[in-house]
Amino acid sequence: MIFIISSPSGGGKGTIIAHLLQSFPTLEFSVSATSRKPREGEQDGVNYYFVSPEEFKRKIANDELIEYEEVYAGSYYGTPKSEIDRIQRKGHHVVFEVDVKGGIKLKKIFGEKALSIFIMPPSIEELRRRLIGRATEPLDVIEKRVAKAALELSYAEQYDRVLVNDDLNLAKAQADEIIRQYIDRETIG
Ligand code: ADP
Repeated sequence: MIFIISSPSGGGKGTIIAHLLQSFPTLEFSVSATSRKPREGEQDGVNYYFVSPEEFKRKIANDELIEYEEVYAGSYYGTPKSEIDRIQRKGHHVVFEVDVKGGIKLKKIFGEKALSIFIMPPSIEELRRRLIGRATEPLDVIEKRVAKAALELSYAEQYDRVLVNDDLNLAKAQADEIIRQYIDRETIG
């Protein structure tokens, strides 16, 4: 099974995915490639494969990516084909953490083999507060992300499931429930 988890920046996909990976040992995170710089504490090959813009372009040219997107000006993000092979060879389920457009592209590619989940923030104002609270980007970058979020929220209906991330514990429990349905269904056959 393939799980595609998307939200606008600050919507909570990283937080919810970290929780899901703890809940379900057979879920495995697909590590994306990016040309953005690592944040403090982020590790190459764990959070992302951090590459230069030139290296990213080489991956595109060599057809190494399932999909890619220039999510923010100069910051490319893409899904390496090799990640799916690596994870499925272990018999694990794939988790993609992707931006909203990337999630729609992946769902089109994988169709019924994938479940796409949109993490919905309670409001744009709350999204801004969380990004400011996370403090991983300067304010002008945060404003650009918030400005982009309004359009991104309108794509939610293209996802299989929409999960509102208001109360975090509730959102985690609901995320567990969604994943459990699919993993159980598969083992029951
Ligand atoms: P994303 O990965 O989608 O960019 P994060 O998971 O980093 O988003 O969440 C953005 C910020 O909001 C983080 O600082 C996170 O701790 C916080 N956060 C996430 N979900 C909630 C929630 N339900 N209530 C309050 N804060 C939250």
